[in-house]
Amino acid sequence: MSTPTAFRQRVCEAVADERVVRAVHLATWHKMEARAESMRQLRDPEAIRELAAQIKQHTLENLPHYLEQFVAQVERSGGCVHFAADADTARRIICDIAAAHGTKLAVKAKSMTSEEIHLNDALEAAGVRTVETDLGEFIVQIDHDRPSHIVTPIIHKDRQQIARALVRETGCEYTEDAEELTAIARRYLRDIFRRCDLGITGVNFGVAESGTLCICTNEGNGRMSSTRPRVHVALMGIEKLVPRLRDLPVFLKLLARSSTGQPLTVYTTLVTGPKRVDDPDGPEELHVVLLDNGRSELLTGEFAEVLRCIRCGACLNACPVYRNIGGHAYGSVYPGPIGSLVTPLLQGLDEHAELPRASSLCGACQVVCPVKIDIPGLLVRLRVRTRRSQPLLKRAAIRLWKWMMKSPTRYAWVQWCLSRLLPDCRDGWSRGGPGPLGAWTHCRDLPIPPKQSFRKLWRERLSDER
Ligand code: SF4
Repeated sequence: MSTPTAFRQRVCEAVADERVVRAVHLATWHKMEARAESMRQLRDPEAIRELAAQIKQHTLENLPHYLEQFVAQVERSGGCVHFAADADTARRIICDIAAAHGTKLAVKAKSMTSEEIHLNDALEAAGVRTVETDLGEFIVQIDHDRPSHIVTPIIHKDRQQIARALVRETGCEYTEDAEELTAIARRYLRDIFRRCDLGITGVNFGVAESGTLCICTNEGNGRMSSTRPRVHVALMGIEKLVPRLRDLPVFLKLLARSSTGQPLTVYTTLVTGPKRVDDPDGPEELHVVLLDNGRSELLTGEFAEVLRCIRCGACLNACPVYRNIGGHAYGSVYPGPIGSLVTPLLQGLDEHAELPRASSLCGACQVVCPVKIDIPGLLVRLRVRTRRSQPLLKRAAIRLWKWMMKSPTRYAWVQWCLSRLLPDCRDGWSRGGPGPLGAWTHCRDLPIPPKQSFRKLWRERLSDER
């Protein structure tokens, strides 16, 4: 369970680590600039975002139909579909597939869903060495660390840390040259690809009408993991469907642009069934594991909209809170604004009550979200549900605020009091309030209400005109 104290401690540690804060700031800033530039190249980005939101919403509203169609098409093309109601079942299914093929070495492409169910631990416990093949995830794995961004897992690491991790794992010469470091990882992973028995990937989009799996990567490791081993296991959340192949370009245009500012991910792999008789390569078996893990319950409630998420990470890059605390402080596989929704909704609000409050509600996340999820609105709704777990003093203060805001007279009175009572005022800002306000103003400036309110000025002006 993540308590408010544990959360505060993680945040304090994260903020104190200047190296991480600087690295995250720099990387997210570049991504936001690249995203803005890349979106400008689209003829009508707003129309495409609107269309993407509508397609996703329509799919969610008709999910049973599209799931049925998808399953039928995957089976028709020779694949095998497994339903996993929860993380335990998904882990068991995948471990059973590995055992049935005597797997000793598996490769894995980057997949947030597999992080969600802690798949690697289960496979390792079952005696299957599982190697991450996305460069960032590979570094995280060999450095015994955790990803801190849903698209860029090592956004918090610098080149020296990456170099040291590679030296430890591969015994290579120490270098800080980015190209050499990449080449070292590439050589190491090539050998793993040659020897592995099983490939595990996530799925960015599942196409219902054809049973096609769309896997997007920038390093080609998704394609290698899905074609090189004899058996391919694709793990996907049930919400990843789109109805038709012709819907895919809408999302492909937005996914890479929102993530990294690229017009398209470097490798966009479409998999329809296992290897056919006349195919030169490909897996002999394809298993698609459809994960529910709380999603169908979410689908029927007021938060269904979060299932539109295509995990592009743009909301993390745009979020001033994420940019200052990084991903680890959230204490969850899914960090940032979308994580502050998904984590409590899928894993329990009591355990993660502090996450919906880890937001300034500035709305930057919603502005960049390619599928137009109303993240701030949903965070507020989730906060309402956590009201009971708030400290008594805070609840009393919110009640007092409500009482004040309901009456113009009371509002004017409080404004008058504040303009005279707030100490330590400079240039119209207070930097130290009394009591609990002191903690708030310790790190924020509070604008001082002017001595003459707008109402008073307005009244005076009206009487002058008369
Ligand atoms: S909520 Fe929107 S912006 Fe954030 S990861 Fe999901 S799709 Fe991207």
